[in-house]
Parts: sequence; C-alpha cells; structure tokens
Amino acid sequence: MVSCFCTVLHVADRIRDELTATQAYSSNFAQSLPLQLPRHGVPCCTMRNKLPDERLPTQAGVMIAAIARGIPADHLDVASVTRPVIHDEHSLIVRVIACGVCGTDVHILEGTSYRPSTPFVLGHEIVGIVVEAGREASEWVGRRIAVSQFLGCGKCEMCRTGDQRLCQSMRSITGVSDAYGGYAEYVRVDAAQAVLVPPDLGSAEAAALVDAGTTAMNAVEKALERGARWPLVLGAGAVGLLAAEILRSRGIPCSVVERSAQRRSAAALFGHRVYASLGDVLERPDLIIDCTGSDSVVRPGLELLAPKGTWVAASYARIPDFDMAQVSRKELVILGVRAGATEELRQVLELAASGSIQLPAIRLYPLAETSRAIRDLADPSAGAKPVITVGPDVMDNPATEEGSMP
Ligand SMILES: [Zn+2]
Ligand SMILES: [Zn+2]
Repeated sequence: MVSCFCTVLHVADRIRDELTATQAYSSNFAQSLPLQLPRHGVPCCTMRNKLPDERLPTQAGVMIAAIARGIPADHLDVASVTRPVIHDEHSLIVRVIACGVCGTDVHILEGTSYRPSTPFVLGHEIVGIVVEAGREASEWVGRRIAVSQFLGCGKCEMCRTGDQRLCQSMRSITGVSDAYGGYAEYVRVDAAQAVLVPPDLGSAEAAALVDAGTTAMNAVEKALERGARWPLVLGAGAVGLLAAEILRSRGIPCSVVERSAQRRSAAALFGHRVYASLGDVLERPDLIIDCTGSDSVVRPGLELLAPKGTWVAASYARIPDFDMAQVSRKELVILGVRAGATEELRQVLELAASGSIQLPAIRLYPLAETSRAIRDLADPSAGAKPVITVGPDVMDNPATEEGSMP
C-alpha cells in the first residue's frame, strides 16, 4: 500500500479548519492528530477525481441532513439537526463524503420495509473520513472508511465470530433503524462497523459497493463453497452485475437474465451472456443467484435448476403459495444471503480497487437533492445507481506501518 504524507496533511488541515470553524474541536482528535502524522512516510499525492467542494454552512453543534419527518413519506426535508457526538469508547464520528442510495430507502419511505421512529436520517451505504473517535478507537481518526450498516449486540455467537449482520439482538442498522444514517454531514458509527477504503478507489464508487457489493460477494462466496460450475444470475441491477463480475474474477463465466433492455445492454457491455427471460435459457444451471426481488422468477427458476443445484436468494422476494415440491424432488439447496459481513465489504473494495471487476454506473447528487435521487432510483428506467455526495472526496488512505487496520 502506498503512503501519502501530503494527502494526510491536506486532510488533517481541512478537518482541523472545519472543526475549529464549528467550535466542535474534540480534545481527543486534537491530541491524536499530531501522533498520526509522523507514521506515514513516502511523499506522493493522488488527490484524484475530487468531487466539488460544496461544503454547507454548518453552525456549531448542528449539521445539515436529509430528514424523514414521518413514514410513509414522499420527500425528505433538508434541514439542520444536532450533530452526533462520541457515545462510548468505540464510537467514531465520520464526516460523510458519499452515501449510496438503495432500494431499501425506497421501501422504507413507502412504508413497506423497516419502520424507524421519526424524525430519522436514512442512508446506509456510507463512506467518509473519521474526524473523532472514542478512547479505544483513536487509531481510526483521519482514516477514510466504508461503514457496514449492522451493529449487533456484541455478545452472541454471531457477533463473537465477527458476523454482526445475523445477530438476533441487533442494536442498530445505521441509516435503516435505530441509528441515523449518511444523508447528513456527519454520522456516528461503531469502530466494529468500519472498513478501510483502499487508496485507489473513489469514495462514491466505494459507497456504491457497501451494500450491493457485499451482497454480491457474499452470494458468490456461498455459492462457490457448493462447487457451482454453471451459474446463472437473475437480474442485472447493481447486485446482479457485481455478482456476475465477481464470478468472472474467480474464473467462472456466467449468464445473466434481465427483463430491462437497458440493463441487458449494460450486462452485455460488461461481456456477459444475457437473456431476456428464463424461457430463453437452454442449459440447466447448477447455480442460480436471484438478485431480482421478484416472486415471478422463483417457480420457473427452480424448474430450470439442475438436480442438486443451489438457489441463492440475494434479494427478498415474497412468494405466495410457495410449493416446496421442486426443492425436494431435485434435492435443491436454498441459501439465504443478507448483505455481507465486514470481511466481504473489505474483499469487494479490494477487488474494485485492483480493477479486477467492472463497476456499475453511478450518478452523483448533492445532499440537497436526496429526495430526487431516491425518486430516480424508484424509476426502473433509471440506469445508474444514485450516490449522494456530501463532502469533498479524498482518495488516499494513509497506510499504517503494519499495512492494515484492526
Ligand atoms: Zn442498501
Ligand atoms: Zn449479537
């Protein structure tokens, strides 16, 4: 990993200026910053692809956020709210750079998914700079991180083995329930949710991978454990495209079924074989990764799947009157996938940074236009994934002497 001393200085200066201006200068941060700087040595600077610096006028103790006043809601209010502060020794305060917009936001605002108590700040695909940290997490200050949204109880078997997403006593899902999210200038997360963003990956691109990328990575890893050789991906949205790309990066070409002509051409441009419907597929796959969220593909998909094949449910379809006969008669395996753990987030960010996978198109919106971004995502003809940009982008993450973070 390449160190970048001047970028560190640049980031540190900017953060210090901002904190001083808002009278929110943390003694923790003030003390930890000078200790950080001498650890990074090789001079270079790669401040590339900077997003426009549209810093919003922030007053002391408050920040700008896009707020859901109630649920269901047809828009978000862009207004001032109290800025988060350190909560415990593992807290991180993150200055948001970019936050991906996800179908879950659409469903929450429609009132058909999670029901956070309002007012609430959505946004669960967060990348930003850590500007302040609790006592036990001070090594994260100044780092550019992607945030895994799940924060478990920390005590159960799942949490203890590093898989907080499956905790059954979930403390919060950042930007989804019980913790404000990233459609804001700042967000508080736990150090257990943080993953370093590799130096060569843009923040908006990384944000677009936080959920879609980890879901795709988790789906592919689970499928490959079953030894699949003839995979078929259903759906060429961000998750489907990334699943196809990750499979190919593992040396396993796959076919993609997608109804939308626009998405089909995106998948074809990436070099995948595409079909308009399951009825067009001639070979029997031994693996289907369903990224559609649609009940209509399940019955024909299970019929097409080879005996002993695997169905990976990478989306949350509701299937009325589901008949398990196909599953039993062919001894199929159905695997559920819930996003991905921090390890999968780390893996997909590395794959993207190394250029091993192509990334779905993204479209940038300023924080003030979060409502429009969510509306655009709900429109199936919209090709690119919306990403909200909040602060200026910073490409480099200073390398530690060990080359990695906890
Ligand atoms: Zn999401
Ligand atoms: Zn737990």
